[in-house]
Amino acid sequence: MKIDEFPQDMQPHLLPAHEGRLVYRCLGCGAQFGIEQLLYVCPECRQVLLLEDANFERLKAVPGAVWRRIFDYRKMLTVPALRGIYRYHEFIGPVIPLDAVLYLGEGHTPVVRANVPLRDELGIDFYFKNEGQNPSASFKDRGMASALSYIHSLIQRGILSEVLAVCASTGDTSAAAALYGAYLKPRIKSAVLLPHQKVTPQQLSQPLGSGATVFEIPGVFDDCMKVVEALSEEYPVALLNSKNAWRILGQESYSYEIAQDFEYDVSQLAVVVPIGNAGNITAVMSGFLKFLEAGVINALPKIVGVQSEHADPVYRYYLEPQADRRRFVPVTVRASVAQAAMIGNPVSMPRVIHMVERYNQTAGCQRVFFAAVAEQDIMDWQLTANRNGHIACTHGGEALAGLRAARAHGWVQPGDIAVLDSTAHALKFSGFQDMYFENRFPEEFGITPNPALVNQPVYIRPKDLEQVPAPGRPLKDEEFRRFVRRTAEDIAGRLQLRKRA
Ligand SMILES: *Cc1c(COP(=O)(O)O)cnc(C)c1O
Ligand SMILES: [Zn+2]
Repeated sequence: MKIDEFPQDMQPHLLPAHEGRLVYRCLGCGAQFGIEQLLYVCPECRQVLLLEDANFERLKAVPGAVWRRIFDYRKMLTVPALRGIYRYHEFIGPVIPLDAVLYLGEGHTPVVRANVPLRDELGIDFYFKNEGQNPSASFKDRGMASALSYIHSLIQRGILSEVLAVCASTGDTSAAAALYGAYLKPRIKSAVLLPHQKVTPQQLSQPLGSGATVFEIPGVFDDCMKVVEALSEEYPVALLNSKNAWRILGQESYSYEIAQDFEYDVSQLAVVVPIGNAGNITAVMSGFLKFLEAGVINALPKIVGVQSEHADPVYRYYLEPQADRRRFVPVTVRASVAQAAMIGNPVSMPRVIHMVERYNQTAGCQRVFFAAVAEQDIMDWQLTANRNGHIACTHGGEALAGLRAARAHGWVQPGDIAVLDSTAHALKFSGFQDMYFENRFPEEFGITPNPALVNQPVYIRPKDLEQVPAPGRPLKDEEFRRFVRRTAEDIAGRLQLRKRA
């Protein structure tokens, strides 16, 4: 719809006019820094940063009801820059000119309700939000759209000329970074560091296909991260890991979308998020807090963070109920099917600590919960979800296993509605499904296939046939007719079909 066709009172709001004054805020010493430079940690105390809008008060001056109408009307707008995560421009990047915005189709992912059998099994109404339907097939595209739109704006303003973007990854970050970097060719070149043999073949093929330089490093993600940090400290590179606060900002869109998807009534919701480096759960909490502060929503949903028992440092930290006695201890990770979350020393841990405290304080009660789930449950629930029409990967399975745990603990009850972050597409991690179906998980995973969930192709070759077709050797006439008839008979037999009368 064209702007002059919208209701008159909406027209001035459709294109974002709010000018943000974004600053990096250090979570250690509280210092703030201008955004003209690319900063990842505080130059003074080395702590991680978050971006804050010093003009946020002005957003509060707009009534919540007006914001809700703005976002709803923007759905009908065809301006490319506002089609993705920047529908919420005022909250996500109010310093990025619309012509610097990169839009590759990210965001506004489907919210798919679980069918009746699955809802009955869990004893609660719930939805998957399919982040696997983003362009590189994971939620990482949200943060990458934000980080690269910002870098693009710096290039447009002549502050940067050429950028070498680097990241370490458990697979999906590099896929997204390479994709968005490729779009800004030749001003941006990207290099990604992956832990050797710790990403899936699909995840490896993605940055290769996008033309990034791909390095494989011995060890696990935490080791790669250290190398990337050393690179970013000593060489002129742009770091695209979630240490980069612009990534967090973009991922807040996930919460804004949930608010809009549920007509801004989120008080009964419980949002379930798998945790790896903890950037995503930080963004999810931050997004809901900002919408609450601006009056777009009137309550905070519950948040359930989920980790695998094989990589659960955040869960362990919150086992101690008394805040002043909690102590963060990195863990040594073990093999996990939630491979993109196999992280023992999450970069965003200080952000999580900061946000959880604010979140619970603002809510006036505990609204954030953490669960650890078994590898076996992750696989079983992923396969169960997919047998009920979903496209969850292992991390979506982790979220579903986490919902089960949250039900068992009584953190969520019937009457609540859960929204599960299905963080990537099943196809990215289909190798784990193969291992399950073929019963060849190495022992370290601790996974035994449940026969009821196993599925295998059935090879049909009627024994009484002498000839079957082969590539370049088709059958002819009666031989071919016999092949078709006999094969159909065998299949019908296995499916226990009776011939039409
Ligand atoms: C990155 C990733 C996660 C973990 O997100 P964090 O922000 O690192 O906590 C979970 N699932 C998938 C599929 C991912 O790619
Ligand atoms: Zn500091």
